[in-house]
Amino acid sequence: MTINQAPQALLQSAFGFPAFRPGQQEIVERLINRTNTLCVMPTGFGKSLCYQLPALMADGLTVVVSPLVALMDDQVAGLLANGIDAACIHSGRDRATNVDDWMRVRDGRAKLLYLSPERLMTERMLAQLDRLDPAMFVVDEAHCISKWGASFRPEYESLSALHDRFPNATLAAFTATADMATRQDIAAKLFRGRGDIVVHGFDRPNLRLEVEPKADWRRQLVDFLEPRRNRAGIVYCLSRRLTEEVATFLAERGFRALPYHAGLSPETRRENQETFMAEDGVVMVATIAFGMGIDKPDVRFVFHLNLPASMEAYYQEIGRAGRDGNPAEVQLLYGLSDIRMRRQFIDQDGGAEDHKNREHKRLDSLLAYCETTQCRRVSLLAYFGEQTAPCGNCDICLDPPEVVDGTTEARKLFAAIRETGARFGAGHVIDVLRGTASDKVGQRQHDQLPSFATGKDRGKSYWQGLIRQAVAGGYLWIDIENYGSLKLTDKGQAVDDGAERFFSREIRETKSGRSRRRDPVDAGVAADFDADLFAKLKALRRDLADAANVPAYV
Ligand code: ADP
Ligand code: MG
Repeated sequence: MTINQAPQALLQSAFGFPAFRPGQQEIVERLINRTNTLCVMPTGFGKSLCYQLPALMADGLTVVVSPLVALMDDQVAGLLANGIDAACIHSGRDRATNVDDWMRVRDGRAKLLYLSPERLMTERMLAQLDRLDPAMFVVDEAHCISKWGASFRPEYESLSALHDRFPNATLAAFTATADMATRQDIAAKLFRGRGDIVVHGFDRPNLRLEVEPKADWRRQLVDFLEPRRNRAGIVYCLSRRLTEEVATFLAERGFRALPYHAGLSPETRRENQETFMAEDGVVMVATIAFGMGIDKPDVRFVFHLNLPASMEAYYQEIGRAGRDGNPAEVQLLYGLSDIRMRRQFIDQDGGAEDHKNREHKRLDSLLAYCETTQCRRVSLLAYFGEQTAPCGNCDICLDPPEVVDGTTEARKLFAAIRETGARFGAGHVIDVLRGTASDKVGQRQHDQLPSFATGKDRGKSYWQGLIRQAVAGGYLWIDIENYGSLKLTDKGQAVDDGAERFFSREIRETKSGRSRRRDPVDAGVAADFDADLFAKLKALRRDLADAANVPAYV
Protein backbone atom coordinates (compact mmCIF):
# COMPACT_ATOMS: atom_id res chain seq x y z
CA MET A 1 0.00 0.00 0.00
CA THR A 2 1.61 3.21 -1.15
CA ILE A 3 0.66 6.43 0.53
CA ASN A 4 -0.47 9.23 -1.68
CA GLN A 5 0.16 12.34 0.30
CA ALA A 6 2.52 15.24 -0.08
CA PRO A 7 5.67 14.75 2.00
CA GLN A 8 4.73 17.62 4.27
CA ALA A 9 1.32 16.14 5.04
CA LEU A 10 2.79 12.70 5.53
CA LEU A 11 5.32 14.10 7.95
CA GLN A 12 2.46 15.15 10.19
CA SER A 13 0.03 12.31 9.64
CA ALA A 14 2.49 9.42 9.78
CA PHE A 15 5.28 10.72 11.99
CA GLY A 16 3.54 13.41 14.00
CA PHE A 17 6.18 16.08 13.35
CA PRO A 18 4.99 19.58 12.59
CA ALA A 19 7.89 20.48 10.31
CA PHE A 20 10.98 19.17 8.61
CA ARG A 21 14.27 19.98 10.17
CA PRO A 22 16.53 21.99 7.91
CA GLY A 23 18.05 19.67 5.35
CA GLN A 24 15.57 16.83 5.74
CA GLN A 25 13.22 17.94 3.02
CA GLU A 26 15.96 18.11 0.42
CA ILE A 27 16.95 14.50 1.07
CA VAL A 28 13.34 13.34 1.12
CA GLU A 29 12.72 14.94 -2.27
CA ARG A 30 15.85 13.47 -3.74
CA LEU A 31 14.85 9.99 -2.70
CA ILE A 32 11.29 10.43 -3.91
CA ASN A 33 12.84 11.43 -7.23
CA ARG A 34 14.96 8.28 -7.07
CA THR A 35 18.34 9.97 -7.03
CA ASN A 36 21.12 7.92 -5.44
CA THR A 37 22.27 9.99 -2.50
CA LEU A 38 24.89 9.80 0.21
CA CYS A 39 23.67 11.96 3.01
CA VAL A 40 26.22 13.15 5.56
CA MET A 41 24.45 14.58 8.56
CA PRO A 42 25.34 14.60 12.22
CA THR A 43 24.05 12.19 14.78
CA GLY A 44 20.66 13.05 16.15
CA PHE A 45 19.81 15.06 13.11
CA GLY A 46 16.96 12.86 12.04
CA LYS A 47 18.43 10.86 9.21
CA SER A 48 16.01 7.95 9.65
CA LEU A 49 13.06 10.13 8.71
CA CYS A 50 14.86 11.11 5.50
CA TYR A 51 14.44 7.59 4.15
CA GLN A 52 11.44 6.35 6.14
CA LEU A 53 9.16 8.98 4.68
CA PRO A 54 10.15 8.31 1.03
CA ALA A 55 9.84 4.59 1.79
CA LEU A 56 6.15 5.09 2.56
CA MET A 57 5.67 6.90 -0.72
CA ALA A 58 7.67 4.47 -2.81
CA ASP A 59 6.11 1.90 -5.04
CA GLY A 60 7.65 -1.16 -3.45
CA LEU A 61 9.80 -2.34 -0.59
CA THR A 62 12.63 -0.40 1.03
CA VAL A 63 15.41 -2.52 2.48
CA VAL A 64 17.39 -0.85 5.24
CA VAL A 65 20.84 -2.17 6.10
CA SER A 66 21.83 -1.51 9.67
CA PRO A 67 24.87 -2.75 11.57
CA LEU A 68 23.37 -3.29 15.00
CA VAL A 69 20.49 -5.40 16.22
CA ALA A 70 19.66 -2.76 18.80
CA LEU A 71 19.42 -0.10 16.10
CA MET A 72 17.08 -2.21 14.00
CA ASP A 73 14.84 -3.07 16.91
CA ASP A 74 14.62 0.58 17.94
CA GLN A 75 13.73 1.75 14.48
CA VAL A 76 11.13 -0.91 13.85
CA ALA A 77 9.56 -0.38 17.26
CA GLY A 78 9.41 3.36 16.55
CA LEU A 79 7.73 2.83 13.22
CA LEU A 80 5.22 0.35 14.59
CA ALA A 81 4.41 2.78 17.38
CA ASN A 82 3.50 5.30 14.69
CA GLY A 83 1.26 2.74 13.04
CA ILE A 84 3.70 2.19 10.17
CA ASP A 85 4.18 -1.44 9.23
CA ALA A 86 7.85 -2.34 9.24
CA ALA A 87 9.72 -5.60 9.54
CA CYS A 88 13.06 -6.85 10.59
CA ILE A 89 14.82 -10.15 10.50
CA HIS A 90 17.79 -10.97 12.67
CA SER A 91 19.27 -13.78 14.67
CA GLY A 92 18.34 -12.23 17.99
CA ARG A 93 14.64 -13.03 17.57
CA ASP A 94 12.88 -16.35 17.41
CA ARG A 95 12.09 -18.00 14.15
CA ALA A 96 8.34 -17.49 14.33
CA THR A 97 8.76 -13.73 14.71
CA ASN A 98 11.15 -13.60 11.78
CA VAL A 99 8.80 -15.68 9.64
CA ASP A 100 5.87 -13.46 10.55
CA ASP A 101 7.83 -10.36 9.60
CA TRP A 102 8.88 -11.89 6.32
CA MET A 103 5.23 -12.70 5.50
CA ARG A 104 4.31 -9.06 5.95
CA VAL A 105 7.15 -8.04 3.67
CA ARG A 106 6.20 -10.58 1.04
CA ASP A 107 2.55 -9.50 1.08
CA GLY A 108 3.55 -5.88 0.67
CA ARG A 109 2.14 -4.88 4.03
CA ALA A 110 5.47 -3.86 5.52
CA LYS A 111 7.07 -1.12 3.45
CA LEU A 112 10.40 -1.29 5.26
CA LEU A 113 12.59 -4.28 5.98
CA TYR A 114 15.61 -3.93 8.27
CA LEU A 115 18.48 -6.36 7.78
CA SER A 116 22.10 -6.76 8.74
CA PRO A 117 24.50 -6.65 5.79
CA GLU A 118 25.47 -10.28 6.25
CA ARG A 119 21.89 -11.43 6.19
CA LEU A 120 20.97 -9.30 3.20
CA MET A 121 23.93 -10.41 1.14
CA THR A 122 23.20 -14.12 1.37
CA GLU A 123 22.18 -15.63 -1.95
CA ARG A 124 18.98 -16.90 -0.39
CA MET A 125 17.83 -13.46 0.73
CA LEU A 126 18.94 -11.81 -2.49
CA ALA A 127 16.98 -14.33 -4.55
CA GLN A 128 13.85 -13.67 -2.51
CA LEU A 129 14.32 -9.94 -2.87
CA ASP A 130 14.80 -10.30 -6.63
CA ARG A 131 11.19 -11.41 -6.81
CA LEU A 132 10.01 -8.41 -4.78
CA ASP A 133 12.00 -5.93 -6.87
CA PRO A 134 12.68 -3.44 -4.02
CA ALA A 135 12.25 0.25 -4.77
CA MET A 136 15.07 1.39 -2.53
CA PHE A 137 18.07 0.18 -0.55
CA VAL A 138 19.20 2.27 2.36
CA VAL A 139 22.61 1.78 3.93
CA ASP A 140 22.59 3.25 7.41
CA GLU A 141 25.90 3.94 9.18
CA ALA A 142 27.41 3.83 5.71
CA HIS A 143 30.90 4.75 6.90
CA CYS A 144 31.24 1.07 7.86
CA ILE A 145 31.78 0.36 4.16
CA SER A 146 34.99 2.34 3.97
CA LYS A 147 38.34 1.09 5.11
CA TRP A 148 39.19 4.73 5.63
CA GLY A 149 36.44 5.12 8.16
CA ALA A 150 36.96 4.43 11.82
CA SER A 151 34.62 1.45 12.00
CA PHE A 152 35.15 -0.53 8.85
CA ARG A 153 33.18 -3.75 8.69
CA PRO A 154 34.10 -6.27 6.02
CA GLU A 155 30.46 -7.38 5.63
CA TYR A 156 29.63 -3.88 4.50
CA GLU A 157 32.00 -4.13 1.56
CA SER A 158 29.83 -6.73 -0.12
CA LEU A 159 27.06 -4.12 -0.34
CA SER A 160 28.84 -2.66 -3.34
CA ALA A 161 27.24 -5.52 -5.29
CA LEU A 162 23.74 -4.05 -4.76
CA HIS A 163 24.24 -1.55 -7.55
CA ASP A 164 24.52 -4.25 -10.21
CA ARG A 165 22.14 -6.69 -8.64
CA PHE A 166 19.23 -4.22 -8.32
CA PRO A 167 19.75 -1.69 -11.11
CA ASN A 168 16.20 -0.33 -10.74
CA ALA A 169 16.44 0.41 -7.04
CA THR A 170 17.33 3.78 -5.59
CA LEU A 171 20.42 3.63 -3.39
CA ALA A 172 20.61 5.82 -0.35
CA ALA A 173 23.37 5.92 2.24
CA PHE A 174 23.53 7.73 5.55
CA THR A 175 26.36 8.52 7.87
CA ALA A 176 27.22 11.01 10.55
CA THR A 177 30.94 10.73 10.26
CA ALA A 178 32.78 10.89 7.03
CA ASP A 179 35.61 13.15 6.03
CA MET A 180 36.07 14.06 2.39
CA ALA A 181 38.07 10.97 1.47
CA THR A 182 35.68 8.59 3.20
CA ARG A 183 32.68 10.22 1.55
CA GLN A 184 34.19 9.73 -1.89
CA ASP A 185 35.00 6.16 -1.03
CA ILE A 186 31.45 5.37 0.11
CA ALA A 187 29.93 6.95 -3.01
CA ALA A 188 32.34 5.15 -5.29
CA LYS A 189 31.62 1.78 -3.71
CA LEU A 190 27.85 2.05 -3.50
CA PHE A 191 26.93 4.17 -6.51
CA ARG A 192 29.88 3.67 -8.86
CA GLY A 193 29.92 7.41 -9.26
CA ARG A 194 26.22 7.60 -10.11
CA GLY A 195 24.96 9.48 -7.12
CA ASP A 196 25.34 12.68 -5.15
CA ILE A 197 26.79 13.56 -1.80
CA VAL A 198 24.85 15.97 0.39
CA VAL A 199 26.43 17.36 3.56
CA HIS A 200 24.41 19.23 6.07
CA GLY A 201 24.16 20.49 9.59
CA PHE A 202 27.39 19.67 11.35
CA ASP A 203 27.09 22.61 13.62
CA ARG A 204 25.81 21.76 17.07
CA PRO A 205 25.56 25.24 18.51
CA ASN A 206 24.24 24.01 21.85
CA LEU A 207 27.47 22.15 22.61
CA ARG A 208 30.02 24.17 24.52
CA LEU A 209 33.39 23.02 23.26
CA GLU A 210 36.36 22.91 25.58
CA VAL A 211 39.84 21.43 25.47
CA GLU A 212 42.30 21.41 28.36
CA PRO A 213 45.84 20.16 28.65
CA LYS A 214 45.99 17.19 30.94
CA ALA A 215 47.69 17.98 34.21
CA ASP A 216 46.07 16.10 37.07
CA TRP A 217 43.17 14.24 35.54
CA ARG A 218 41.53 13.25 38.83
CA ARG A 219 41.28 16.83 39.94
CA GLN A 220 40.26 18.02 36.47
CA LEU A 221 37.55 15.37 36.24
CA VAL A 222 36.14 16.05 39.67
CA ASP A 223 36.28 19.82 39.12
CA PHE A 224 34.26 19.32 35.99
CA LEU A 225 31.73 16.90 37.45
CA GLU A 226 31.17 18.52 40.83
CA PRO A 227 29.00 21.40 39.56
CA ARG A 228 27.19 18.95 37.28
CA ARG A 229 26.03 16.44 39.85
CA ASN A 230 22.68 14.87 38.99
CA ARG A 231 23.18 15.41 35.30
CA ALA A 232 23.61 12.58 32.87
CA GLY A 233 26.91 12.38 31.06
CA ILE A 234 29.56 10.19 29.53
CA VAL A 235 33.23 10.00 30.48
CA TYR A 236 35.18 8.39 27.66
CA CYS A 237 38.37 6.48 28.47
CA LEU A 238 40.83 4.74 26.24
CA SER A 239 41.08 1.39 27.98
CA ARG A 240 38.86 -1.03 29.80
CA ARG A 241 41.08 -0.92 32.85
CA LEU A 242 40.90 2.84 33.10
CA THR A 243 37.14 2.73 32.59
CA GLU A 244 36.75 0.54 35.65
CA GLU A 245 39.19 2.54 37.70
CA VAL A 246 37.52 5.86 36.93
CA ALA A 247 34.04 4.48 37.62
CA THR A 248 35.23 3.28 41.03
CA PHE A 249 37.03 6.54 41.70
CA LEU A 250 33.88 8.53 40.97
CA ALA A 251 31.60 6.18 42.88
CA GLU A 252 33.83 6.68 45.93
CA ARG A 253 33.18 10.39 45.61
CA GLY A 254 29.46 9.92 45.62
CA PHE A 255 28.76 10.05 41.91
CA ARG A 256 26.40 7.57 40.36
CA ALA A 257 29.03 6.26 37.96
CA LEU A 258 28.91 2.99 36.04
CA PRO A 259 31.48 1.36 33.77
CA TYR A 260 30.80 0.21 30.23
CA HIS A 261 33.19 -1.63 27.94
CA ALA A 262 33.24 -4.66 25.73
CA GLY A 263 34.99 -6.76 28.38
CA LEU A 264 31.96 -6.70 30.68
CA SER A 265 29.35 -9.42 30.41
CA PRO A 266 26.43 -8.69 28.11
CA GLU A 267 24.10 -8.63 31.14
CA THR A 268 26.20 -6.05 32.97
CA ARG A 269 26.44 -3.94 29.86
CA ARG A 270 22.73 -4.08 29.31
CA GLU A 271 22.01 -3.35 32.95
CA ASN A 272 24.35 -0.36 33.05
CA GLN A 273 23.03 0.98 29.80
CA GLU A 274 19.44 0.66 30.99
CA THR A 275 20.29 2.44 34.23
CA PHE A 276 21.92 5.22 32.26
CA MET A 277 18.91 5.56 29.99
CA ALA A 278 16.27 5.32 32.70
CA GLU A 279 17.67 7.09 35.74
CA ASP A 280 18.64 10.70 36.20
CA GLY A 281 22.17 11.86 36.72
CA VAL A 282 24.08 8.69 35.85
CA VAL A 283 27.66 9.11 34.65
CA MET A 284 28.62 6.40 32.20
CA VAL A 285 32.36 5.79 32.26
CA ALA A 286 32.97 4.04 28.99
CA THR A 287 35.22 3.04 26.17
CA ILE A 288 34.02 3.86 22.69
CA ALA A 289 32.14 0.56 22.78
CA PHE A 290 29.45 2.68 24.37
CA GLY A 291 27.49 5.04 22.23
CA MET A 292 26.66 3.64 18.86
CA GLY A 293 22.92 3.76 18.60
CA ILE A 294 22.43 5.21 22.07
CA ASP A 295 19.72 7.81 21.73
CA LYS A 296 19.43 9.53 25.07
CA PRO A 297 18.34 13.09 24.38
CA ASP A 298 19.38 14.66 27.67
CA VAL A 299 23.05 13.73 27.95
CA ARG A 300 24.39 16.97 29.41
CA PHE A 301 28.12 16.40 29.02
CA VAL A 302 30.78 14.29 27.38
CA PHE A 303 34.17 14.29 29.04
CA HIS A 304 37.16 12.81 27.22
CA LEU A 305 39.85 11.58 29.54
CA ASN A 306 41.97 10.56 26.56
CA LEU A 307 42.48 11.89 23.09
CA PRO A 308 40.13 10.30 20.54
CA ALA A 309 41.58 8.75 17.40
CA SER A 310 40.56 11.48 15.00
CA MET A 311 38.41 14.49 14.43
CA GLU A 312 35.61 12.20 13.18
CA ALA A 313 35.75 10.08 16.28
CA TYR A 314 35.77 13.16 18.47
CA TYR A 315 32.84 14.66 16.64
CA GLN A 316 30.83 11.48 16.85
CA GLU A 317 31.55 11.05 20.54
CA ILE A 318 30.70 14.60 21.57
CA GLY A 319 27.62 14.32 19.38
CA ARG A 320 26.04 12.14 22.05
CA ALA A 321 25.60 15.20 24.24
CA GLY A 322 22.71 17.62 24.01
CA ARG A 323 20.62 15.87 21.42
CA ASP A 324 17.55 17.54 22.87
CA GLY A 325 19.00 20.84 21.68
CA ASN A 326 19.49 22.18 25.20
CA PRO A 327 22.90 23.40 26.34
CA ALA A 328 25.47 20.66 26.90
CA GLU A 329 29.17 20.72 27.57
CA VAL A 330 32.04 18.74 26.17
CA GLN A 331 35.49 18.67 27.66
CA LEU A 332 38.58 17.04 26.22
CA LEU A 333 41.78 16.48 28.17
CA TYR A 334 44.88 15.73 26.26
CA GLY A 335 48.51 15.32 27.04
CA LEU A 336 51.71 14.43 25.30
CA SER A 337 51.34 10.81 26.27
CA ASP A 338 48.02 10.68 24.43
CA ILE A 339 49.65 11.88 21.26
CA ARG A 340 52.43 9.37 21.64
CA MET A 341 50.00 6.57 22.23
CA ARG A 342 47.84 7.41 19.26
CA ARG A 343 50.88 7.61 17.00
CA GLN A 344 51.96 4.26 18.28
CA PHE A 345 48.61 2.66 17.52
CA ILE A 346 48.69 3.94 13.98
CA ASP A 347 52.20 2.69 13.39
CA GLN A 348 51.55 -0.70 14.91
CA ASP A 349 48.26 -1.15 13.19
CA GLY A 350 49.89 -2.74 10.18
CA GLY A 351 48.37 -1.62 6.93
CA ALA A 352 49.89 0.13 3.97
CA GLU A 353 52.10 3.20 4.26
CA ASP A 354 49.53 5.49 2.68
CA HIS A 355 46.93 4.26 5.12
CA LYS A 356 49.23 5.10 8.02
CA ASN A 357 50.01 8.49 6.56
CA ARG A 358 46.35 9.24 6.27
CA GLU A 359 45.73 8.21 9.86
CA HIS A 360 48.62 10.37 11.05
CA LYS A 361 47.18 13.32 9.12
CA ARG A 362 43.82 12.74 10.71
CA LEU A 363 45.40 12.73 14.11
CA ASP A 364 47.26 15.92 13.15
CA SER A 365 43.95 17.60 12.41
CA LEU A 366 42.67 16.75 15.84
CA LEU A 367 45.88 17.99 17.46
CA ALA A 368 45.65 21.24 15.55
CA TYR A 369 42.11 21.55 16.86
CA CYS A 370 43.37 21.00 20.40
CA GLU A 371 46.04 23.67 20.10
CA THR A 372 44.12 26.14 17.97
CA THR A 373 44.04 29.78 18.97
CA GLN A 374 40.86 30.43 16.98
CA CYS A 375 37.27 29.54 17.68
CA ARG A 376 37.02 25.77 18.19
CA ARG A 377 33.80 25.55 16.23
CA VAL A 378 35.34 27.26 13.24
CA SER A 379 38.17 24.75 13.37
CA LEU A 380 35.88 21.76 13.88
CA LEU A 381 33.43 22.64 11.12
CA ALA A 382 36.17 23.52 8.67
CA TYR A 383 37.27 19.94 8.94
CA PHE A 384 33.86 18.77 7.76
CA GLY A 385 33.70 21.29 4.95
CA GLU A 386 31.39 23.78 6.61
CA GLN A 387 32.06 27.41 7.42
CA THR A 388 30.83 29.37 10.38
CA ALA A 389 31.49 32.56 12.30
CA PRO A 390 33.22 32.45 15.72
CA CYS A 391 30.67 30.87 17.99
CA GLY A 392 30.89 32.53 21.38
CA ASN A 393 30.30 29.12 22.93
CA CYS A 394 33.75 27.58 23.22
CA ASP A 395 36.64 28.05 25.62
CA ILE A 396 38.56 30.12 23.09
CA CYS A 397 35.74 32.53 22.26
CA LEU A 398 34.88 32.85 25.94
CA ASP A 399 38.43 33.20 27.19
CA PRO A 400 40.79 33.87 24.30
CA PRO A 401 44.26 32.50 24.96
CA GLU A 402 47.13 34.85 24.81
CA VAL A 403 49.39 34.11 21.89
CA VAL A 404 53.00 34.70 22.81
CA ASP A 405 56.23 34.69 20.88
CA GLY A 406 57.85 31.54 22.18
CA THR A 407 60.80 31.58 19.80
CA THR A 408 63.45 31.87 22.50
CA GLU A 409 61.99 28.99 24.49
CA ALA A 410 61.41 26.87 21.41
CA ARG A 411 65.00 27.33 20.30
CA LYS A 412 66.26 26.15 23.68
CA LEU A 413 64.05 23.12 23.35
CA PHE A 414 65.04 22.37 19.78
CA ALA A 415 68.73 22.80 20.64
CA ALA A 416 68.43 20.29 23.47
CA ILE A 417 66.82 17.82 21.09
CA ARG A 418 69.45 18.36 18.43
CA GLU A 419 72.40 18.22 20.84
CA THR A 420 71.23 14.96 22.39
CA GLY A 421 71.08 13.45 18.92
CA ALA A 422 67.25 13.44 18.69
CA ARG A 423 67.30 10.10 20.46
CA PHE A 424 65.27 10.92 23.56
CA GLY A 425 61.67 11.33 24.58
CA ALA A 426 60.15 14.35 26.26
CA GLY A 427 61.13 13.26 29.77
CA HIS A 428 64.86 13.27 29.20
CA VAL A 429 64.85 16.35 26.98
CA ILE A 430 63.11 18.25 29.76
CA ASP A 431 65.63 16.94 32.29
CA VAL A 432 68.44 18.29 30.10
CA LEU A 433 66.73 21.67 29.75
CA ARG A 434 66.09 21.93 33.45
CA GLY A 435 69.53 20.68 34.37
CA THR A 436 68.16 17.67 36.20
CA ALA A 437 69.35 15.02 33.77
CA SER A 438 70.58 12.18 35.89
CA ASP A 439 73.40 9.98 34.78
CA LYS A 440 71.12 7.10 33.94
CA VAL A 441 71.77 7.48 30.25
CA GLY A 442 75.32 6.41 30.81
CA GLN A 443 78.45 8.20 29.70
CA ARG A 444 76.70 10.60 27.42
CA GLN A 445 77.68 13.58 29.51
CA HIS A 446 74.58 15.53 28.75
CA ASP A 447 75.52 17.97 31.46
CA GLN A 448 78.32 19.13 29.17
CA LEU A 449 75.94 20.20 26.39
CA PRO A 450 75.46 23.92 25.63
CA SER A 451 71.70 23.50 26.11
CA PHE A 452 72.08 21.92 29.55
CA ALA A 453 70.05 23.79 32.17
CA THR A 454 69.21 26.62 29.75
CA GLY A 455 65.56 26.12 30.67
CA LYS A 456 65.90 25.76 34.42
CA ASP A 457 63.87 28.91 35.11
CA ARG A 458 60.80 27.11 33.81
CA GLY A 459 58.88 24.26 35.39
CA LYS A 460 58.40 20.83 33.94
CA SER A 461 54.76 21.53 33.06
CA TYR A 462 55.83 24.52 30.99
CA TRP A 463 58.15 22.40 28.88
CA GLN A 464 55.57 19.66 28.55
CA GLY A 465 53.12 22.26 27.27
CA LEU A 466 55.60 23.68 24.83
CA ILE A 467 56.50 20.26 23.50
CA ARG A 468 52.82 19.40 23.12
CA GLN A 469 52.24 22.55 21.13
CA ALA A 470 55.32 22.00 19.03
CA VAL A 471 54.15 18.48 18.24
CA ALA A 472 50.60 19.58 17.53
CA GLY A 473 51.88 22.45 15.40
CA GLY A 474 54.08 20.17 13.33
CA TYR A 475 57.45 21.49 14.59
CA LEU A 476 58.35 18.22 16.23
CA TRP A 477 57.37 14.67 15.57
CA ILE A 478 57.41 11.67 17.82
CA ASP A 479 59.45 8.83 16.42
CA ILE A 480 57.54 5.86 17.74
CA GLU A 481 59.85 3.34 16.10
CA ASN A 482 62.68 4.77 18.18
CA TYR A 483 61.34 4.80 21.69
CA GLY A 484 59.20 7.86 21.15
CA SER A 485 62.16 10.14 20.65
CA LEU A 486 61.43 13.71 19.66
CA LYS A 487 62.67 14.84 16.27
CA LEU A 488 62.61 18.15 14.44
CA THR A 489 60.52 18.52 11.33
CA ASP A 490 61.54 20.95 8.56
CA LYS A 491 59.31 23.49 10.19
CA GLY A 492 61.05 22.97 13.52
CA GLN A 493 64.41 23.08 11.81
CA ALA A 494 63.58 26.52 10.41
CA VAL A 495 62.97 27.79 13.94
CA ASP A 496 66.12 26.10 15.20
CA ASP A 497 68.08 27.83 12.40
CA GLY A 498 66.61 31.17 13.37
CA ALA A 499 64.79 31.51 10.04
CA GLU A 500 61.27 31.33 11.48
CA ARG A 501 59.63 32.41 14.69
CA PHE A 502 57.52 30.21 16.94
CA PHE A 503 54.25 31.47 18.33
CA SER A 504 52.49 29.55 21.03
CA ARG A 505 49.53 29.80 23.29
CA GLU A 506 50.40 31.13 26.66
CA ILE A 507 51.32 28.18 28.84
CA ARG A 508 50.09 28.28 32.40
CA GLU A 509 52.35 26.28 34.63
CA THR A 510 50.71 23.81 36.93
CA LYS A 511 52.25 23.37 40.33
CA SER A 512 52.12 19.69 40.98
CA GLY A 513 53.02 18.48 37.52
CA ARG A 514 52.31 14.82 37.15
CA SER A 515 51.83 12.50 40.02
CA ARG A 516 54.72 10.37 41.03
CA ARG A 517 53.17 6.98 40.76
CA ARG A 518 52.55 5.64 37.35
CA ASP A 519 49.29 7.04 36.23
CA PRO A 520 46.84 4.67 34.58
CA VAL A 521 45.39 7.46 32.50
CA ASP A 522 48.60 7.31 30.56
CA ALA A 523 48.23 3.59 30.42
CA GLY A 524 51.84 2.79 31.11
CA VAL A 525 53.32 5.61 29.12
CA ALA A 526 55.43 7.49 31.60
CA ALA A 527 57.17 10.76 30.90
CA ASP A 528 60.35 8.84 30.29
CA PHE A 529 59.92 6.35 27.56
CA ASP A 530 61.20 3.16 29.11
CA ALA A 531 62.26 -0.14 27.72
CA ASP A 532 59.23 -2.20 28.62
CA LEU A 533 56.96 0.34 27.06
CA PHE A 534 56.31 -1.74 24.03
CA ALA A 535 55.20 -4.73 26.03
CA LYS A 536 52.81 -2.52 27.93
CA LEU A 537 51.46 -1.00 24.78
CA LYS A 538 50.85 -4.42 23.41
CA ALA A 539 48.80 -5.30 26.45
CA LEU A 540 46.99 -2.03 26.13
CA ARG A 541 46.17 -2.73 22.52
CA ARG A 542 44.60 -5.99 23.52
CA ASP A 543 42.67 -4.03 26.07
CA LEU A 544 41.69 -1.70 23.31
CA ALA A 545 40.01 -4.41 21.32
CA ASP A 546 36.92 -2.39 22.17
CA ALA A 547 37.99 0.11 19.62
CA ALA A 548 37.52 -2.27 16.75
CA ASN A 549 35.02 -4.56 18.30
CA VAL A 550 31.70 -3.01 18.98
CA PRO A 551 29.63 -5.68 20.68
CA ALA A 552 26.17 -7.00 19.86
CA TYR A 553 26.61 -7.15 16.15
CA VAL A 554 24.21 -9.42 14.40
P1 ADP B 1 20.21 10.22 13.28
O1 ADP B 1 20.02 8.88 12.61
O2 ADP B 1 20.49 11.30 12.32
O3 ADP B 1 21.20 10.15 14.38
P2 ADP B 1 17.50 9.82 14.16
O4 ADP B 1 16.93 9.46 12.85
O5 ADP B 1 17.74 8.70 15.11
O6 ADP B 1 18.84 10.64 13.98
O7 ADP B 1 16.58 10.94 14.81
C1 ADP B 1 16.90 11.59 15.98
C2 ADP B 1 15.66 12.11 16.66
O8 ADP B 1 15.09 13.20 15.93
C3 ADP B 1 14.57 11.08 16.77
O9 ADP B 1 14.06 11.10 18.08
C4 ADP B 1 13.53 11.54 15.77
O10 ADP B 1 12.24 11.13 16.14
C5 ADP B 1 13.70 13.04 15.82
N1 ADP B 1 13.24 13.74 14.59
C6 ADP B 1 13.56 13.44 13.33
N2 ADP B 1 13.00 14.31 12.46
C7 ADP B 1 12.30 15.20 13.19
C8 ADP B 1 11.49 16.36 12.88
N3 ADP B 1 11.32 16.75 11.63
N4 ADP B 1 10.95 17.03 13.90
C9 ADP B 1 11.13 16.63 15.18
N5 ADP B 1 11.87 15.55 15.54
C10 ADP B 1 12.45 14.84 14.57
MG1 MG C 1 20.74 6.99 12.58
